[in-house]
Amino acid sequence: MSAPLHKARPAGQGRVLPDTQQGMRRRNLSRVMHTVRDEGPLSRAAVASRIGLTRAAVSTLVDELIRAGLLEELGPERPGRVGRPGSALAVSGRGPAGIGAEVGVDHLAVCAVDLRGEVRARAVRHVANRDRSPEPVLGELTGLIHRVVAEAEGEGLWPAGLAVAVPGLVARDARTVVRAPNLGWLDTDLGPLLPEKLPLTVANEANFGALAELWLGEDTPRDFLHVSAEIGIGAAVVVDGRVLHGNRGFAGELGHVPVWPDGPSCACGGRGCLEQYAGEEAVLRAAGLEPGEDRVGLLAGRAEQGDAAVRRALHDAGTALGIALTGAVNLLDPENVVLGGALSGLSPWLLPSLRSELARRTAGPSCPVSVSALGPEGPLLGAAHWVVRGVLDDPAAVAERG
Ligand SMILES: [Zn+2]
Repeated sequence: MSAPLHKARPAGQGRVLPDTQQGMRRRNLSRVMHTVRDEGPLSRAAVASRIGLTRAAVSTLVDELIRAGLLEELGPERPGRVGRPGSALAVSGRGPAGIGAEVGVDHLAVCAVDLRGEVRARAVRHVANRDRSPEPVLGELTGLIHRVVAEAEGEGLWPAGLAVAVPGLVARDARTVVRAPNLGWLDTDLGPLLPEKLPLTVANEANFGALAELWLGEDTPRDFLHVSAEIGIGAAVVVDGRVLHGNRGFAGELGHVPVWPDGPSCACGGRGCLEQYAGEEAVLRAAGLEPGEDRVGLLAGRAEQGDAAVRRALHDAGTALGIALTGAVNLLDPENVVLGGALSGLSPWLLPSLRSELARRTAGPSCPVSVSALGPEGPLLGAAHWVVRGVLDDPAAVAERG
């Protein structure tokens, strides 16, 4: 299964391979990888019966994946079985790793995730990136990437690709940030500013957050809206397990859906956008607090203590979210709405008004709203897993490169 973000994607992600012998071999390598990853440890015979190939055919594929460092043998299965004991296969905890990175308005983060889905190295730096030009920000991010890659390499891993989550609109080339209003970036190709040896995918943070929800969340449906925020508010529309991109790749800009047409002006050029009511800074303003670091922590702390102004500001933000989401829910009929990113930390005070506003306004039965268990980590994990999925979907491409 794949959920392509853009046309350009690492390691053949989502590509329909030609129906040649070579194409068949590549697809079967991927089926073996996915089967072992989802159900392993498994013997070769068990893999063969699950994917409906002969044991001999599976053995050839498995040998190739072991040589490439993508699968490993755990040693003989328990004795006492009839015939030669098979060796249980598992996805390698060494070999390729996905490098995920996130550029936030006030933080940078990088992590390495192995093929088993485990985070093996991570680095975070809190830094005010608003109105900083892309060069120093990505220079600093590159430093963190090198640190995480070195740590991963120390554990026998090697980077299969880099995926970067950004709070802005990304062109379909999956490299160019067309507009990131809260960073002040316009038409910037991130490729030349990042480590050049790694295959690169850049995408909106909400899209990676949604994919993390899809791949790592419990019982995530195939049709849902994922809403995430820090200062800006982004959303991703997932339809049948795929992120909807729209014509230019800009779908999901929930933060700029008007809530009150005559409201305050917004960085996008519009007025009364959702971001002006439910973005972190807007909520702080409404509560009479100064924006600073750890805005969510400040709001959550005050709300917990019963601060009436903060609770009212969060209640109103929930109402604004409910109004904006009504349009999306009525239009798209998702199975549910997932609140992720920083919003998830404020959900106890946002959800009641959000839910009642949404229920009051939606045409059909009300759409359930849940909170992401991944919290603010979603986009970063989604980025790293994007690279990992690319390897699982086309292990041959990685084996040839590795
Ligand atoms: Zn706007």
